[in-house]
Amino acid sequence: SPPSPRPPELQLHDVFIAVKTTRAFHRSRLELLLDTWVSRTREQTFIFTDSLDEGLQERLGSHLVVTNCSAEHSHPALSCKMAAEFDAFLASGLRWFCHVDDDNYLNPRALLKLLKTFPWTRDVYIGRPSLNRPIHASEPQPNNRTRLVQFWFATGGAGFCINRKLALKMAPWARIGAAVEGRKHFFLISLSSASVSWWLAAVAPASWTHLPSSGCLMTALWATSSSASWAATCSPALSSTPTWRPCSCWGLPSSQSRFRSLHCLLYPDTPWCPQLVAR
Ligand code: UDP
Ligand code: MN
Repeated sequence: SPPSPRPPELQLHDVFIAVKTTRAFHRSRLELLLDTWVSRTREQTFIFTDSLDEGLQERLGSHLVVTNCSAEHSHPALSCKMAAEFDAFLASGLRWFCHVDDDNYLNPRALLKLLKTFPWTRDVYIGRPSLNRPIHASEPQPNNRTRLVQFWFATGGAGFCINRKLALKMAPWARIGAAVEGRKHFFLISLSSASVSWWLAAVAPASWTHLPSSGCLMTALWATSSSASWAATCSPALSSTPTWRPCSCWGLPSSQSRFRSLHCLLYPDTPWCPQLVAR
């Protein structure tokens, strides 16, 4: 068959952005996202939660997805949300699937720039490895046998993206949570992206694209005073597990003001940002 024609240049509206949240964080985290980066990516951002919230529903309409997943920090509950996100992406027909937690600042311009660097003809999974080497694990097989698998362990807390080409290969496994459920002992920290990593290693070996693991958007911004093209997400210390900090953004007083300061740097025309007086 003839090669498929090159698609038009990637735009932000080709990207499906899924944010995972939970009832307890609607006020404390989500509000901040809606005030900041989500306000610049309304059309492509979908918020996946576990509980009805009339106020949010009113603000977000169809962009709030209330899943049937339970509101707990358990493996099945989180995998359930991942599967809901993935299904919604497949149905959307969009070219990229990006997942972030509700404590991430996502820089839409940097994200687009990053995604544009990947050839559309390849299977692409972009993530940040949590270790500097792949994890080895033995996977149970029938008849008491085991098989050694090796995979890079991604940190979902820093966000990850999958292009449609790869996503379609994963589609038969769309209930990622279910597929991984029987092997939960492999997945210790970051359930969502670990599930994907495992899938890639065990089912359809694909090459990994690692984001630079040093620094993050904030540090790069402070270091260079210009926007970093390679770091598209940032997770500034809103986490409930302080030991796990893949991309820490130090140097500013509190998480809330970190988000807002960063947003004002990137989008100084935001009405609530301090207006700089022209000199
Ligand atoms: N989360 C969830 N259900 C819960 C607790 C957390 O869906 O019961 C989501 C939360 O909204 C966030 C992600 O899981 O998007 C990770 O949660 P958190 O940042 O609190 O944990 P950590 O980053 O420390 O693993
Ligand atoms: Mn977190």
